[in-house]
Amino acid sequence: MSSSPTERIIAIQSSLPSSVRLIAVTKQVAPEMMRHAYAAGIRDFGESRIQEAATKQVELQDLPDITWHFIGKVQSNKAKLAIEHFQWIHSVDSLKLAQRLNQLAQQLGRSPLVCLQVKILSDPNKSGWTVSQLLEDLSQLNECKNLQIHGLMTIPPLGLNESEILDVFHRTRDLAKEIQEKNLSSIKMHQLSMGMSGDYQLAIQAGTTMVRLGTILFGERLYQ
Ligand SMILES: *Cc1c(COP(=O)(O)O)cnc(C)c1O
Repeated sequence: MSSSPTERIIAIQSSLPSSVRLIAVTKQVAPEMMRHAYAAGIRDFGESRIQEAATKQVELQDLPDITWHFIGKVQSNKAKLAIEHFQWIHSVDSLKLAQRLNQLAQQLGRSPLVCLQVKILSDPNKSGWTVSQLLEDLSQLNECKNLQIHGLMTIPPLGLNESEILDVFHRTRDLAKEIQEKNLSSIKMHQLSMGMSGDYQLAIQAGTTMVRLGTILFGERLYQ
């Protein structure tokens, strides 16, 4: 890891299959470093705190073609800000939140791109739908016409071995396929947001379309 950040970003980006979109996760990463990432070709930035992202968006407003992805917990009192500041929301984790975002999107004249966050295995530390709850909620999600539901997002629980992680990713992919085959008018399932620094190669094996990478691009963060 003696290469410069720019070299590292270019190397990782060029190692990904062309079908995989790299979301550079820049929580706690300074705007100057984000400019290096931009210069290295990054156009998708992922943030988990709205206020932090909003500040950076002002600082980086001269960079025209960035797509901003929200990947953190959406507090219901921040839902409006999430829509205003991000084109993508990967972490829609309940029907209630989806319905609230849908209503706000209508009021704001927006149609945010979203992923539905699922928990394939139970995990007290993560939010998201269980598989059975998600299947139950689909018809009501399909009524959320102001959301562009484009796929699933998942984060495997901590402490799994590689084959268990791969299994989580495969099951997520299979669930997306199962939902796609229901042919619901407002729910598309061509995107999978899965894979972080420690497991993105497994996610690629399982057919992910978006990886969310922070540490491997920018180094360790001070806190989680
Ligand atoms: C922080 C974070 C990432 C990036 O994690 P790394 O391990 O640093 O690559 C990806 N997804 C989510 C939801 C995150 O909160």
